[in-house]
Amino acid sequence: MLNLKNCNIYNSCNLNKTQHHAYLFYSLDRALNDNIALTFAKSLICDKGDACDECASCRQFDCFSHPDVTILNSDNYKVEDVNDIILKLYSKPISANKKLFVILNFDNMNETAQNKLLKSLEEPNQYNIFILSTSKMDKILTTVLSRVNKIYLNKLSLDDKKIISALLNLDDETAAKFLSPAINLTDLFKLLNNEDENSFNSIFNLLSGLNTTADIPALVSAVTDVDKEKFLELFMDVFLSALENNKEKYGAKIVDLINSKFKKQVIINCLEKINEAYVKLKANVNFYYVLDTLLYNILKEKFLCK
Ligand SMILES: [Zn+2]
Repeated sequence: MLNLKNCNIYNSCNLNKTQHHAYLFYSLDRALNDNIALTFAKSLICDKGDACDECASCRQFDCFSHPDVTILNSDNYKVEDVNDIILKLYSKPISANKKLFVILNFDNMNETAQNKLLKSLEEPNQYNIFILSTSKMDKILTTVLSRVNKIYLNKLSLDDKKIISALLNLDDETAAKFLSPAINLTDLFKLLNNEDENSFNSIFNLLSGLNTTADIPALVSAVTDVDKEKFLELFMDVFLSALENNKEKYGAKIVDLINSKFKKQVIINCLEKINEAYVKLKANVNFYYVLDTLLYNILKEKFLCK
């Protein structure tokens, strides 16, 4: 989660001045709703009361292992999900003085399930707090809406976007895109995830399809629409992970694939070739030419080391 406690948008909600048993955070920016809801939940469970990120409770919260916090995020909530919540409602908290039920994207809960939850919202007890988020108010039953404290979130201000850019350690180019009024937090996450995923999938396909020089043209032309500088950085990082047999970062599939295709010395030589390619790209040599040469060199290394 993104801890938004230092953002104006969070502080302007004045959440510490009110104590309700159910909250609903809403705006069209789905990621903003979710992260504000999570920041608030964390502050309620934090030993210091301010989502410090450092105390035992905050750390448990981050690992989804706090015994008094239930966080749900689904594309399709079912009645069984609500039944699981109801089972937890009647016990006392274990380590905190309250129990939190965070249900993100609540609009993904169908009418039957919402109706089932309604009774718990109607009869609050001293321990349970519900924290919901949604970007589609029209999908929520009016009976549910009438029982929650609704908090509308404005668009992110420029100042808050700067705080978030620093929190996420965004590069200058991405930060500049994010500062544009048209880009919200949901768009930003899409931007960040898609680029990485596209580049990663392209690398995986290149390496799994690379057997002879005849394979190269088709593989090169299949790499489209990626951040070209980032692509070679990722390429190098993937090879480094294979060299170190680090399966955590990109998963066992790609590490095993590279290690089955290339001997250790070949991987080391390839890293040097990727570095050469990176230097060429920096000198404005055409990306596809650089990639074509790189794949040819990788194959040559593999062949020479046999
Ligand atoms: Zn804390």
